[in-house]
Order: sequence, then C-alpha cells, then structure tokens
Amino acid sequence: MDSLSAPVVCPSGSVSVSFAEPRVDSPQARPKPHEPARNANVQVERDVDVLVIGAGPTGSTAAKYAARGGAEVLLIEKRSEIGTPVRCGEGVAKRWLDEIGLTPSAEFICHEVDGARVIAPDGTALVVDETRAGNECGYVLERDLFDRYLAKEAAKAGAEILIKTSAVGLLRDDGRIIGARCEHMAETVDVRAKVVIGADGFESQVGRWAGLETHLRTRDIDACLQYTMVGVAGNPRYNDVYLGSCAPGGYAWVFWKQPDVANVGIGVNLSKIRDRADAKRYLDALIGRTPSLAKGEVIEEVAGAVSVSMPLEKTIAPGLILAGDAARLIDPLTGGGILNGCLSGKYAGEVAADAVSAGKATEEALSPYERRWRARLEEELARHYLFKERLIRLDDETVNRAIHAIVEAKVERITAANVLDAIRQYEPGLLTVFEGFL
Ligand SMILES: Cc1cc2nc3c(=O)[nH]c(=O)nc-3n(C[C@H](O)[C@H](O)[C@H](O)COP(=O)(O)OP(=O)(O)OC[C@H]3O[C@@H](n4cnc5c(N)ncnc54)[C@H](O)[C@@H]3O)c2cc1C
Repeated sequence: MDSLSAPVVCPSGSVSVSFAEPRVDSPQARPKPHEPARNANVQVERDVDVLVIGAGPTGSTAAKYAARGGAEVLLIEKRSEIGTPVRCGEGVAKRWLDEIGLTPSAEFICHEVDGARVIAPDGTALVVDETRAGNECGYVLERDLFDRYLAKEAAKAGAEILIKTSAVGLLRDDGRIIGARCEHMAETVDVRAKVVIGADGFESQVGRWAGLETHLRTRDIDACLQYTMVGVAGNPRYNDVYLGSCAPGGYAWVFWKQPDVANVGIGVNLSKIRDRADAKRYLDALIGRTPSLAKGEVIEEVAGAVSVSMPLEKTIAPGLILAGDAARLIDPLTGGGILNGCLSGKYAGEVAADAVSAGKATEEALSPYERRWRARLEEELARHYLFKERLIRLDDETVNRAIHAIVEAKVERITAANVLDAIRQYEPGLLTVFEGFL
C-alpha cells in the first residue's frame, strides 16, 4: 500500500468520467507546455474538495487543517517516502510549536539547546541564550520523523495521502484552476478539486503553472550544503552560527543532534559565488580550520537551496493557494522556513475548507489566506529582507566591530533598539551602517 492513510483510491486501470472534461483556457488555444493536453491518456479521474500538492511540513499542515474544516482532502507527494531525504539543518525556535498547535514531543524533537553562539570572523562569540532572546532559541528536530508526524496528523484528521504521485500540470476551466493532472506510478490521474494548495517547496512549479510571478534573482537564493558529522566536539547546549567571509552573503551553522553529532552546514549567496559547488569549498575550509569539527567524520551530505527573497507578490489565484517555500515564505535572514511553512499551511487549509463550505473558490473567497499570512509574517519578512540585503555587503571588519560592541555592552535582551544602543555607545562610526534597518 502506497498510502499512510486509508486505502489508496486509485484503482488501477479504472476510468471514471463523472464530470465534464477540463478545458484549456481557450477552446482554440494549444495547451502551453505545462498545461495537460485534453487528449492525454488519462486512466483515472478523481474528484475531491481540496488537493494539496507536496507533503512537506507546509502541505501536511494544510491537509490537516483543511480536513479538520470538513473538506475531503487528497495530499499527494512525489517521493516514495515522506520526510526523506532530509534537506534541512533541522533547527527551529521553540515559540513556533504552540502557534501551529503542536505539543513538543520526543517523537520528532532530537535535541534542545539553551541558545546560540554568533561567531564573528575573528572568533569572538556573542551568546544568545533564552534570557537574552526569549523562546527564539530552540530545538533540533529529527526532520524525517517530524514530516512523518505531520503527515500522520493530516491522516488522523481525515486526509487521504498518496505517495509516489507527482502533479505534472494544472487543470483549468474558464481561467479557474480546477485540479491537477498527476502521475502515480505508470498511471495518469486527473484530480479535480475545488481548491488546489501548492505546497511543492522551493523548486515549486505549481505557482509558475498558474501564471504567478515566481522568478527569483540570483541574489535572492542561497546555495546550501550540509554534512551530518559524528565525533565532533563542542558545547552541545549552544548551536553555533558563523558570520563573515567564511560564508559569503550567508552563514555557516553547527546544529547539535547529540553531544558528538551535529549538522554542520553552510548557506552562501549565489550572487557571491561562481557556482553552487563553491558552497562545498567554503564549508570544507571552515571545518578544516576548526579543530573541534575537523576531528569528526561525515556520515551524510545534503545539498539544496533556499530563497532569501521577499514573499511572492501574489499567492492566490482562482482555485489556487500557494503556501510555504512555494510562496517564498522562508525567512530571508535565517533561511528557516519550517515555521512559516506550517503557519501558512494552517491558514491555507482553513481558508480552503471555508471556501469549499461556501461553495466558492474565487480569488476573493481565497483572499483571507493572503490577509492572514501577511498580517502575521509580512512585516517581519520585509524587515529581515532589508537586514539580509545590508548584511551581504558587510566586510569582516565591520561584522567584528558590531559583534564586539554588543558583547562589550553586555546587552541583556537582544532587540533592535538594544543592539543600536550598543553600537551607538561602542562603535558610533557604524551607526550609519545599522540605522534604518535594525
Ligand atoms: C540545507 C538546508 C537547510 C535548512 N535548514 C533549515 C533549518 O534549520 N530550519 C528551518 O526552519 N528551515 C530550514 N531549511 C528550510 C526548510 O527545509 C524549508 O523551509 C521547509 O522544508 C519548507 O517546507 P515546505 O513544505 O514548504 O517544502 P518542502 O519541505 O520542500 O516540501 C515540498 C514537498 O513537495 C514535494 N513535491 C514537489 N513537487 C511536487 C509535485 N509536482 N508533485 C508532488 N509532490 C511534489 C516534494 O517532494 C516535497 O516533499 C533548510 C533548507 C535547506 C535546503
């Protein structure tokens, strides 16, 4: 059985034509490359209220909340196993669990830290612990278990899950999105849905298929590489974040999983490197000159990318909602996207269920989704975007001086105002650099 939930309702070879065939936008028009041809060999047709594309944290959360809202939900995932391979540092802030209605559980939390050390290029460490940063400090997840936990929650809420199933195009009728053509094993399945939720991650195609502007500039992408290392040394109560030219335009991290096991990774801004392979050069160099890391062995390597952009201008279209990484909701300063994915997934699921109940999935009916994520996230994402734009231009000397100022001032709470006060007091020459975006 390919499903985590109840039966996979995808009877091999059966053909059900219980509804009108979807049209391309104009009867004369040829389908665009991403639009399914009408005469494709569709072997199975399905009809659901909500189709969620992608079973990452965003999609599973969306499916859970849509199902809780009473909708008949199908969650599809192209991979053969939800949660693997893991492409993630697995670090999250504690505050987020509550907000998405999850109780901390050993089922998916691997390690808890007291805070982080922000390490300047000259090695000076600024300790950011719970007393200084509140519950921003965090957990390190077992991301594969976490993703599966969320999928289980979706299934418990009533969503059907179909793995090894890829969306390959959107179905339209009269300009509205009315479902997706999917491939499941060797079968083509047209899934008609009142609302489609695109939760297909950083490499999302759903938004582009829908005609939304999803293009990313080079400077708005960080290339990431991460090793899981065993036999490393350090203080596992604090995750480490390395700033400066060791990770051009981004940062490197050591996120602890056990006292001698850590995710050691790097994100470098694409505008600062020649090609993505440079990420490996920078990560290897950092490990090579850090004896506590160099003594370890790599047991896993993952590469990926994150958007460090502003969110999409538009995240809805008639019949469609985009959420999580697909909507570019990753935090452009930290590259963290799990919380924002889950939050936007929750909003997407709730709004989709409401639209189904109201019998309307127009853009207006789906607009509460945009209003909700913008109210909760937009201001912070915009502030962090500006911050990242400045940070990628700072040289090592400036980063050193800023970190020294904050350390010397013994700032009690890390807030923008307190950091500016510290800089004003100890490095007034840097005020113009930091004012206006802190
Ligand atoms: C190296 C690295 C380290 C990171 N570290 C952190 C971190 O420490 N903390 C943090 O918060 N964030 C981190 N992130 C970001 C985080 O992983 C993402 O923000 C998060 O996974 C977003 O969840 P999502 O559900 O939106 O997308 P994803 O997790 O990418 O899920 C999308 C899913 O959709 C599926 N899919 C795609 N296309 C289709 C299709 N056509 N049909 C069916 N299924 C499809 C994919 O297989 C995938 O399972 C990191 C990212 C990288 C690359």
